[in-house]
Amino acid sequence: MLPVTKFLLYCRSGFEGECAAEIQVQAATRDVAGYCQAKTDSGYVLFSPYDAAQAQLLFEKLDVRKMIFARQCLGVVGQLEGLPVTDRVTPVVQSVAGIHFSDVWLETADTNEAKELGTFCRKFAVPLRQALTKMGILISDLRVPRLHLFFLDSSRVFLCVCLPEGSSPWLMGIPRLKFPHAAPSRSTLKLEEALLYFLSEKEREKYLQPGMRAVDLGAAPGGWTYQLVRRHIHVTAIDNGPMAPELLDSGLVEHLRVDAFRYRPAKAVDWLVCDVVEQPIRIARLVAEWVAGGYCRHAIFNLKLPMKKRFQEVKRCDDEMSEILAAKGVDYELRFKQLYHDREEVTGYLRKL
Ligand code: SAM
Repeated sequence: MLPVTKFLLYCRSGFEGECAAEIQVQAATRDVAGYCQAKTDSGYVLFSPYDAAQAQLLFEKLDVRKMIFARQCLGVVGQLEGLPVTDRVTPVVQSVAGIHFSDVWLETADTNEAKELGTFCRKFAVPLRQALTKMGILISDLRVPRLHLFFLDSSRVFLCVCLPEGSSPWLMGIPRLKFPHAAPSRSTLKLEEALLYFLSEKEREKYLQPGMRAVDLGAAPGGWTYQLVRRHIHVTAIDNGPMAPELLDSGLVEHLRVDAFRYRPAKAVDWLVCDVVEQPIRIARLVAEWVAGGYCRHAIFNLKLPMKKRFQEVKRCDDEMSEILAAKGVDYELRFKQLYHDREEVTGYLRKL
């Protein structure tokens, strides 16, 4: 394989600072120091270790699923500038000749400016894939790295690689979800994506079974409740606001107009979901107390982030939750991610082991 010299991380436009802070911390925990190039609203960050020899080792250890603000994390193996309009295929093929890849993905930053480039990528993918297959570069072996071409424009591209196990399985790190028309709010996609992201297919089958019980804090009008009801899960919906009548008609929803911070179920439930708009630290404490107190086994919750120090705020919530759970001797799994459908926010998943 070509040596990895630096890293390319995709993120939500406007969160380059958070993504850069995070990769610096991830690298530092493995004794790798380096610098970031992160242009505001570009939708990506470049991280270069000072000692290029360390990049390859770091590449094998980084895992995008353990990052909060990065949607994808790739090893950069080359960069091409001035691709000729008449033949862009040949320079790309020549750069990777003699190497094997399991697939090739053509990507751009997730910004408005890059939207047109997406059309170019879809068109260019056809002849490029044909040429790479003809040259024996693309092979059907999932153990070999995947090739990512990250286009800055139609003549400038980063050549990147990733290993399937440490990377996002979605093009541009974005799951394409269709809005379910029966859902009462677009927020429904946040919970759908969270279930897809935090749980494997087997876990979804095991932990989201018909007849289970859930509490939805800050439920109105019911986008999150909808995701649970469509899985035939009983929901206690807590909100002073009105719930969509179709959800109440399902016979699976009990609506209580009480305060989300005071309510506790009489009997433990399987799931807590929480989309209350409040200070993140208050939500983090509330969710940790539910799990530590044995009120639920799993929790998915949204943390609305402040304008500044957003990375530090998530870390603060993580620390506080860990402290509450450790004080009760609870073994747990706790992860955070800025999902594609999250805006100025991140989603957390807490599970009692
Ligand atoms: N998840 C919902 C959906 O998918 O339709 C959207 C929830 S909305 C972002 C936040 C909700 O939290 C609002 O409906 C608001 O009334 C509710 N809320 C805010 N503070 C609350 C509290 N202390 N107790 C109960 N509900 C609260």
